[in-house]
Amino acid sequence: MKRVYSTEILANAWHIRNVLEQYDIDSVIRNENLFSVAGEVPFIECMPEVWVKPLYYRRAKQIIAELESSSQAEGPDWKCSECGESNMISYSVCWKCQSSDEKPMLDEEPC
Ligand SMILES: [Zn+2]
Repeated sequence: MKRVYSTEILANAWHIRNVLEQYDIDSVIRNENLFSVAGEVPFIECMPEVWVKPLYYRRAKQIIAELESSSQAEGPDWKCSECGESNMISYSVCWKCQSSDEKPMLDEEPC
């Protein structure tokens, strides 16, 4: 088995598992029970993880990458063109300098 995904949020792991299932990819979630004892072991070791058979690894990674890029397109942040501060997508003006940059245009952001 190979790990294709890890998350701080168990619901995300379940979501990934459901999506993979739609592509006929069997997966298992690890650490979903460990999560309740997060205070007693290093946090990183009890992150919920999604594992698949090596056969499906490449395909699963591709599906997850597509999922993540599509969720990125919706936000959550836009960058103020005046001061460069990151703002929540729900803010119409910059929380820091009150400049109203109405065009998040994430896909055209200069790098
Ligand atoms: Zn600003």
